[in-house]
Order: sequence, then C-alpha cells, then structure tokens
Amino acid sequence: MILISGCLLGANTRYDGENNRFSHPRLMSLLAQGQLLPVCPEVAGGLETPRLPAEIIRGDGKDVLAGKCSVVDNAGVDVTEKFLAGAEIALSVAKLLKIKAAILKDGSPSCGSTYIYDGTFSDKEVKGCGVTAALLEENGIEVYSENNLEQLIAKLQD
Ligand code: SF4
Repeated sequence: MILISGCLLGANTRYDGENNRFSHPRLMSLLAQGQLLPVCPEVAGGLETPRLPAEIIRGDGKDVLAGKCSVVDNAGVDVTEKFLAGAEIALSVAKLLKIKAAILKDGSPSCGSTYIYDGTFSDKEVKGCGVTAALLEENGIEVYSENNLEQLIAKLQD
C-alpha cells in the first residue's frame, strides 16, 4: 500500500476547492490494483475546503515539527495546530497499514517534499518540505512526489 495525496487522484481538497489530478499510467494501474490510499492532511486536520491559502513562515515542515516556526494563512491566522493534526493522522494511518512510501503533491505546505513557498504569499518557491512530508520522513516513510514518481516505480519493479 502507498499513501497518496488525495488531490493527485482528483479529490477537490485543495485550498481553492480544485484538485491536482495526475493521470500517470503507472499511478492509474496502482490505483486499479487497490494499492493507493488517498489522504488529505489539511482536511484530515480539520480545515475546510475551500480555505485560505497557507504558507510556512521562515522555515519548512521540519522547523514546524521542531516548534521553530508556524503555518499561517494569508489573513494572518495561525493554522499550525491543524497542519500538525493532519500530519499526525496521515502518520497514524501509514503506521496502522505498515505503509512504507508516500506520493505527495510537491509545493504544498503539508505535502511538499522538494519545495514549498517562501511564506510571503508571492509565489516564490524555496527548497524544503511540508509538515506531513517531514513527519512521514522522520518516521522512516519514503516520500516521493508527482515529479519523481519514476524513482518509486523503479523501486517497485526491483
Ligand atoms: S494538503 Fe496535500 S492532499 Fe490536501 S490538497 Fe494540499 S497537497 Fe493535496
């Protein structure tokens, strides 16, 4: 079983009520085989859809887990607790089902694994990971994104 961002499978869970459907043939075949478990950490953590966009301020998901920085929406409301709650739920599900890998939407303050946005709400990308990606990785779960899915596919074929 592989954990996957629900929005990559077409769930309208993005902050703007849209999705990030990613119809890679191998992904579709894993889905057909019942090997993908969708989760949206932000919705699981209690945020509504649609919701205001949120970014990690002066840090990334690892810093949020360490209590060094916060996740704030573009109205200035601190949503860190909800992001942490969602990450914990994703981790609990992964542990319960002994999941060892996840495919998460890159760029998200929850799911990003190689980049996120810089906390200024100006569409500026920075290297770093989101809160859920950081928590999963800290717990030994390999995190991939739609951009490096081929690496996971190659591993599955080994
Ligand atoms: S939190 Fe993750 S699964 Fe949910 S909408 Fe954002 S990127 Fe998709």
